[in-house]
Amino acid sequence: PSGVDVRNYSAGAAGLAEARALFADYLEVTPAQTLVWNNASLELQGHLLAMLLLRGVRGGAPWAGTDAKIIVATPGYDRHFTLLAGLGLSLVPVAMQPDGPDVDAIEALAASDPTIRGLLFVPTYSNPGGEKISAAKAQRLVAMPTASPDFTILADDAYRVHHLSRTERDVAVNFVALAEAAGQPDRAFVFASTSKITFAGAGLGFVASSVANIAALSSYLGALSIGP
Ligand code: PLP
Repeated sequence: PSGVDVRNYSAGAAGLAEARALFADYLEVTPAQTLVWNNASLELQGHLLAMLLLRGVRGGAPWAGTDAKIIVATPGYDRHFTLLAGLGLSLVPVAMQPDGPDVDAIEALAASDPTIRGLLFVPTYSNPGGEKISAAKAQRLVAMPTASPDFTILADDAYRVHHLSRTERDVAVNFVALAEAAGQPDRAFVFASTSKITFAGAGLGFVASSVANIAALSSYLGALSIGP
């Protein structure tokens, strides 16, 4: 429908308009708040972290060389831990609880230490215990005061639609909308992919955030690859 010549994939680094619209719908955001990139959301998480290290976000300084630390919930996803550590980011663990990460601990850490730059966790059916964040905790995460002005939430929503019973259907948290409503529109990135819908590595990876954040990520990915 957009008339893009897909033989040359000339739609830009944010992805084909039709793919952005499809997964904007899936993540309950707008196409301008959505970027579709290759097959793996984990790769996209790595690219965003590298962008934060090399370029920063929201006009802030790059994180590289600043002793940047990221909060993770434990037990959690081993690939998150190796990705963060592999990029030289320090991990600050908090407990995973039945209704999501320990937000009392996160609020205290984020408010007191400017080197704590963000949080990476799985909001829906977290590995390995299957915990799901409550609406109340999600609300606190997007609104909490942080010592770092560019504190960034990376929500890896790999299991967003993979409900375990019919009664759980309509409970996915929309971090992008919540952050916007809380006056922190650039605080949250939400990642997902079709890896658990089609085949791992044979689908699409995508991310949602504010329009400004998506434009920044698109510019960074364009510099790495196909241009803006
Ligand atoms: N995130 C979580 C929490 C996962 O469990 C997995 C796959 O096992 C992934 C990400 C990987 O997803 P992708 O194939 O989109 O990189």
